[in-house]
Formats: sequence, structure tokens, C-alpha cells
Amino acid sequence: MKQPPNLQEIQEAMRPGRLSQTGFLGTDPRPLGDILAEDDATVRRLGLSHEALADRMAYFREKGVAGLGVPVDVPPHFEVRVDGVRGRMPCPFRHPGLYPKVFCQVKNLRTRETITFSDLQIHMIGAHGFYEGRGSAYRLEPETLIRVLEVSPAESSFNTPLHEAPGGAPSDSPRE
Ligand SMILES: [Zn+2]
Repeated sequence: MKQPPNLQEIQEAMRPGRLSQTGFLGTDPRPLGDILAEDDATVRRLGLSHEALADRMAYFREKGVAGLGVPVDVPPHFEVRVDGVRGRMPCPFRHPGLYPKVFCQVKNLRTRETITFSDLQIHMIGAHGFYEGRGSAYRLEPETLIRVLEVSPAESSFNTPLHEAPGGAPSDSPRE
């Protein structure tokens, strides 16, 4: 599918060796516009927003930072560790400013799953709905984020549509 020139340029900048060594797209052959559209559809289908996911990620990052590299218990059943390395990264969507290379690892002790994300990823998800391309080592599947971080739809949305219920009970959905 054809995409606007600015998205095309952003996609070029996401290739390996441009803004980062590994790039942002992995082996994903799709145009950036399609990657964004598909993840957007997934998040909406689950009754959530990119902002809600980013807020939840920022919440854990905030809790974990107090540990200065040592895991911090976050009720009810999370363990969070925040680590930083030297350097900063620019947003590939060309926002001014640089994001420190701070990584937040969240372990869900109930599901025994762990995910790791960076400050830049919190920004890219919240501001751009970008979770990286498939095959990228850093790709964050929206479903995985939602499950591991236990992101729930905003309590302010009164009209939860009944037909939006995802298949199966949320806590017992089989994996794989
Ligand atoms: Zn940005």
C-alpha cells in the first residue's frame, strides 16, 4: 500500500544503522502505515488506547526507578527493575529531544511473564501507537503488554460494549 512521503521517510530512518544499530522494524516487510494501522486496530478491539498502555508502562517505570537497579515489589504481584545505560535516542518520528536509554523490566509473578521496554518505547506507544516491527528484538506485542502489565480499560468509559468481550476468560486464556 502506498503511504505519504513523510511516513516513507520515517520508515527509512527506522532501518538498521540509521538512528539505532538494530533499527525499529526487524524483518517486517509491511509499510509503516500498515504496521501502525494493525496495532491500532488490535488495541481498539481490546477496548484500550495507546495512551492507556503508555500510562501503565510509565507507572511501572516510575515505581521501579526508586530501586536504582534493584528489583522493586509493586503490588499486587509485580516485580520491577529499572536500569539505565549511557546514551540517548531520538524519536524516529522526528520529535525534538532525546530519550535516555532507560529500560524497565516488569515481571508479572502471577503469569510468570516478563517484558522489558525503554523510555523511548513508552513515548513511541503513547504518542505514535508504534510498537516496532515484527521480528524486531524490541517489538512489544500490544496483547502481551496488556496481559503482562494487566492494563484494564479506563474506568471512566461507562459504556463498555458487551460485544467487545475477547474470547475466553481474561485470566485463563491459553497461551500458544
Ligand atoms: Zn515522537
